[in-house]
Formats: sequence, C-alpha cells, structure tokens
Amino acid sequence: MKKSHRFIFISILLCLTCLSALAASKSKGAANDAKSAAAKAKSEARAKAIKGRILAGEGLKLFAKKDYKGAIPKFAASAESDPRDPTVQYYLGISAIRSGDYRLAEQALSRVVVMSPPTSKYATNALKCFDNCRKEMNRVRPYSCIFEGSKFWRWSTQSRPVKVYISPGLQLPKGYSGADLNAEKISKLAVWLRDSNFIKGLKPYRHYREQYHGYVEKGLQEWSFASAEGIVRFTTVDDPTTANVLLFWCPTLPADAPGHTVVSEKKGEPVIIELAVEFIDKLPLNLWPTLVQTIAAHEFGHAWGLQHSDFKRDIMFPTDKIKFTERGTDQTGPNIVTPNDAATLRALYDLNAPILK
Ligand SMILES: [Zn+2]
Repeated sequence: MKKSHRFIFISILLCLTCLSALAASKSKGAANDAKSAAAKAKSEARAKAIKGRILAGEGLKLFAKKDYKGAIPKFAASAESDPRDPTVQYYLGISAIRSGDYRLAEQALSRVVVMSPPTSKYATNALKCFDNCRKEMNRVRPYSCIFEGSKFWRWSTQSRPVKVYISPGLQLPKGYSGADLNAEKISKLAVWLRDSNFIKGLKPYRHYREQYHGYVEKGLQEWSFASAEGIVRFTTVDDPTTANVLLFWCPTLPADAPGHTVVSEKKGEPVIIELAVEFIDKLPLNLWPTLVQTIAAHEFGHAWGLQHSDFKRDIMFPTDKIKFTERGTDQTGPNIVTPNDAATLRALYDLNAPILK
C-alpha cells in the first residue's frame, strides 16, 4: 500500500470509528433522554396521585362534617387526578345525592359500577343508591364492565369511528372459527384480515341465508344513539381490510351459544364476532328476524366493551339464558338496547380504561 493510500485508508478508518462512536453516543444520549422523560412522567404521575389523595382527604373531612356541597369540588378534583379510583367516585356520588345533584350522582355512581367487579363493596352500595333514587336518577341501573376479575376496555378516540364489517355469510378458516377462535389467535388473524386475497378466499357457510344481513344491520342500528351522541362513533364498511369489528358466521358455538365476540388485549387488533347459523336454523322461521337482530345487537355491545347485565330486559343479558317463544323472546328477555345499556356505555366511555383498542 502506497503511503498516500495508507493515509486515506487510516483516515477512513478513523472517520468510521468516529462516526460509530458519535452514533453510539447519540443513541446513548437518546436513551438517556427517553429515560429522563420516563422518570419525569413517573414523578409527575406520583405528584398528581399525592395531590389527588390530599384532595380526597380534604373531601372526606368535609363529608364527615356533612358539608356535602363543599366536599363535591374536592372529590371531583381528586377523581380527575385518578379517574379509576372507585372510592373517590363513590364519595363524589353520595355527596351529590345529599346535595340534590342527581345528574352528577348518576354519572359518578355509574362509573363506580362500570369499573368495579359486580360483588365489590362500592359497586353493591352504588347500586343500592340507584334502587333507592330510581325516580331521581332516570330509573337506570348500570352494570359492571369488568372481565377476568379486574380488566375493562373501550375504543380509543383515535380508533373512532369504529369501522364495522358485516360479512355476507363468510366463515373463518378451520382452527380460527367457532370453538377454536380465541384472543391469542386474533393476532394471526389480524394480519391475514388486512389482505384482501385472504377475505376473497373465505367461503359462505352453506346454511347461511341472505336475509340475515338485514337483521344484523337492524341490531347494529340499535346502537345508533351512541354514534349520534358521540359516545362511540361507528360506521359500516364494505372493505373488510380496514375494519375494526368484523362479523362472521359459523355452524355452532360451545355450550350452544347463539353468538360470541372475541377481543384481544392488543391495540389495533380487530374484534371478531361470530354468529351460529345452526342455532338460528333450528328455531321457527318467524323468529329469525327478532333472534338475529337481538343476538347481533348483544354482540355489538360486547364489541364496544360492554359485559353482561343480570337484568333480563337489557340487551347485554346473557344470550344463552334467553327463552325464545313463538312471539320472539319470552317478553321478559332482551329485545332492544335499554336505558341501562345506554347508561353503562356512557359511563364506560367517560372513563380512562386500562385497555384501549
Ligand atoms: Zn354475551
């Protein structure tokens, strides 16, 4: 190697070393920045939580002195710093009742019920308030949206309007349909469903009838108030590759359920609804419109994040407990979305849920 060439080679080598050192120090700097930002966010959250606890303490002191009007702003500010604390929401609701502000009471106590397991002390007591002040609180009785003990979820504002695709009888592939479909399989399906060729390859289930589509649409329309009010905006789409909620069909489901909704906890992954065609088929023909509409409305309720109600007339009453008679349901079972379903949905979308889709 000539001297000049050796010089150039060494220079390049040095430059490369410098560049990689620079890049390393840059990435180290970026990592440090991210670390300090995370630490800052953590200390801010801690300060906010402490402030919230102080405000709640001040509120409780006023509450003990029966100064309910004075306690409300303390509890309200505390609830803002930690919206998922049912204790503060509960005391806010009770203070509101004792001050005669039933609108605020309904809001706060609905949140308590929605975010707590049904058997929790605060949820049980909040429900007693709804029973005792039925007239004042619009005769509503919300229900818990908790699943697997402590989780609840809803659509984030970025994902709205939620795009709903109602398939014309299509069945998902073997291993990903009916009893085989679970939350873990959604991740794989999520990728496939973005590919139009995958959807083109799906076949309609042989006993599916075209008129079911209209009944499902009617079930979805039962939630149109939620879209109009801006609680959870949704729209139907013809292109399944862009959809957030996809409705498919399958022969049967475990425990002879008429429908099910499968939700993964990952953001951005779709929610899958399946309706069991053979369940519909075995019932008298005149029941199909009501049946499909009711089941679809119920499953769409799950797709918004609702869980089950124990009140028979609510649309979120478990569908496997409905008795179907010649006139439709037994008239004590659910037919339509009720004010309870609406109040629960409103409270759910009022909350900062731990899982956001
Ligand atoms: Zn259900």
